Amino acid sequence: MEQSLSELIAISRAFGSDIRLVWAGGGNISVKTGDGAMFIKASGTELGQMTRRRGWRKVNIENVRRLLDNLLERKAGADNIKTGLLNACCDGLPDAGMPSIETFFHSLLGRCVIHLHPMILLPYLCSKTGQKRLRQILPANMDFHWIAFRGLGVVTAGQIRNCISRKRLDLAQTNIFFLSNHGIIVSGPSAAGAAKIIQKILTACRKNMPPSKQIKLHAVKKKTLQIAAMIQSCCEQMCSSFENRKTVLIAPLYTPGGIPPAKQWFHGVITPEELTYLGAGIVWLEKPDRNGIRKAMHAHFHRTGLWPKAFFIPRHGLFISEKEENLSMYQKVFAQYLQIRASAMRLGGLKPLSSKYLLGEGL
Ligand SMILES: [Zn+2]
Repeated sequence: MEQSLSELIAISRAFGSDIRLVWAGGGNISVKTGDGAMFIKASGTELGQMTRRRGWRKVNIENVRRLLDNLLERKAGADNIKTGLLNACCDGLPDAGMPSIETFFHSLLGRCVIHLHPMILLPYLCSKTGQKRLRQILPANMDFHWIAFRGLGVVTAGQIRNCISRKRLDLAQTNIFFLSNHGIIVSGPSAAGAAKIIQKILTACRKNMPPSKQIKLHAVKKKTLQIAAMIQSCCEQMCSSFENRKTVLIAPLYTPGGIPPAKQWFHGVITPEELTYLGAGIVWLEKPDRNGIRKAMHAHFHRTGLWPKAFFIPRHGLFISEKEENLSMYQKVFAQYLQIRASAMRLGGLKPLSSKYLLGEGL
C-alpha cells in the first residue's frame, strides 16, 4: 500500500472514532502523494471506518484546482461539481463514491490536511469573542488564520485560496485555520505533526473552560414521562416523518460549572451540522403542554424550515425525538450541543449563523 494512503487511514481511524472530534460523515483528512495526487475521505463515509479498501478516493490535484477556479469564476455551475470531482478521481475505483465537497480546500493546502469539528473548540468558534479568546489561550508561536463563515465547500475553498495568496502562506510549513461556526483545519508536512498541533489546541481549549458539572433537574417522575409522551404525539401529528421515532429524556446533562440552561442559550442555528442533522437546534419550551409544544414547533419550523428534534424544558431536561437506530448517537450529540451553547454563552454570547450563507453551492 502507498505510504500516503496508509498515513491517511491511520490518522482517519485515530481521530474519526472519537465522537467528540467528529461524528456521522463530518470532518475530512487528506494526504498528498508527491506526484500530483491526493488521497482523501470519500463523501458520506465516516473517518473512523476507513479501511484499505473503502472510504477514500485518490484525486488529481490539478484537476480539482481547475474545477474550483471555474466554479469561483462562474465558468462552471453547482451542477458541475459532482461530475467534475468524479472525473478528477484517478484511482480506477468506479463505485467508491464521490470525493467530499471539502476536497477543494484540501487540494490547495500542504501535504497532510486534518479537518475536524471538535466539541471542545466549537464554543470558541460559535461565540462573539472566540477569535480573541483563542489568541489569548494559544501559545504566541501558534499563529492561526480566522475564516469567517460564508458557506461550505466551494465557498470555504475560495476564502482559503484568498487567504493563502493575501498572506503568502508557506504551505511547506504548518498552517492553522479556524473556520468560524464550523471547525479546524491543520495543514502540515506530516499527519503525525498536524495531529500533535490539534491535540495541543484542544488541550488549551479544555484548560480554559470551567469543568463540566451535572445540572440539577427534577427526578424522572410521572410528569416527565407525560411530557415525553406529549412531545411524541405532537411530533407525530405535525409531521409524518416523526412516525417510527421515539421520544426520550437525555440524562444526565452537564454544563460548565453545572449552570442550568436559560432561554437565550437556544437562539439561532450555530453550525451547519445543527441545520443538516439536528433539526436546526434545540427548542426552549417554557410551557410543556400540548398547546405550548405545538406553538414552539410551529415557530421553529417557520424560522428554519425544519421540524425540531430536541426540546429543553426547564427543570425537566432535554428530550429528543429520533429514529430508534440513531438514538444512542443523537443523545450524545445533543448533550454535547447543550454544552457547546453553554460554553459559548460564557465566552461572551452565541454568534448564530446568518441564514443567507446556508444556501447554494456552498452546502
Ligand atoms: Zn467540516
